[in-house]
Amino acid sequence: MADEVQQTEIQGPNDEENKRYCWVCYASDEDDETAPWVKPCKCRGTTKWVHQSCLQRWVDEKQKGNSTVKVNCPQCGVEYFIAFPNMGQLMLFLDRVDAFIYKVCPFVAAGVVVGSIYWTAVTYGAVTVMQVVGYQEGMTLMEQADPLVLLVGLPTIPIFLILGKMVRWEDKVLKLIRASVQRLPILKYLLPAFRYEEPAGVSTTAVISDPVNATRVLCGALSLPTLATTVGRLFFPAAQDNLTRTLLGGVSFLLVKGLFKVYYKQQQHVMQSRRKIIDYPQDPSTTPSPPPPPPSLPPPTRRQNSSTYISNNSETEHSN
Ligand SMILES: [Zn+2]
Ligand SMILES: [Zn+2]
Repeated sequence: MADEVQQTEIQGPNDEENKRYCWVCYASDEDDETAPWVKPCKCRGTTKWVHQSCLQRWVDEKQKGNSTVKVNCPQCGVEYFIAFPNMGQLMLFLDRVDAFIYKVCPFVAAGVVVGSIYWTAVTYGAVTVMQVVGYQEGMTLMEQADPLVLLVGLPTIPIFLILGKMVRWEDKVLKLIRASVQRLPILKYLLPAFRYEEPAGVSTTAVISDPVNATRVLCGALSLPTLATTVGRLFFPAAQDNLTRTLLGGVSFLLVKGLFKVYYKQQQHVMQSRRKIIDYPQDPSTTPSPPPPPPSLPPPTRRQNSSTYISNNSETEHSN
């Protein structure tokens, strides 16, 4: 160590700076005299030098086959300037075409996706019109309508169905019923599900978060016309036309489903606010652990344990 320090002092700073070390392979001029060197960045001192071939390997590793990726010096952060030989006008043109295609493709793909969704929505709208007003009536209706009106109007049918599905009127009804039951206790006898006292000290704020589920909303909204026509055919066969029948079927379906949902949510609320966390049977941390018994006498400890368990249980029963 001491020798080395002395040596650098003797050599002086100039000699040390003239010596080149590759920061990739740690080799110096003496190790390979023919290898070409490059100082590609702002780094100073001996670490500014690197072998051309070593840096090429480093760049390859960073770019991972994509020659458009920019590579920076890991020390000073300067971006390496990589020069390519001039390969002629054709190569320049092909390069630009390639870059253009690379940039444009995401937009084209997005357009295809949006277009497919749009045409799916148009088709769904047309099918729904025929389902609701009847096949023949639907066909004549759409043949008579302006094509522009159809192209704009038909895709809004699924959109409105989805938006309508997001309206949670059941929650509003539930809140309204709860409020009116508190004001008019006589309602409790009409609605047994609401005959329930809110227990004090129980947190009901954390009860049942009901987040909007995208796939559920989509399935529910898009199946509504089919359900409406089915219910209409089953329960309102005497309706004067298809549209009235479907509307009657849809409204009654939504009403019955909504009432079930209100009932279900209220019962869930009652269930949650009455829940209780049960003692773990024979919890070793609550019962004082008995002293380690002599190995010849295991049965008495077992009896002792079971007796504490029974007394624990009877305690909880009393508190109930
Ligand atoms: Zn090297
Ligand atoms: Zn650098």
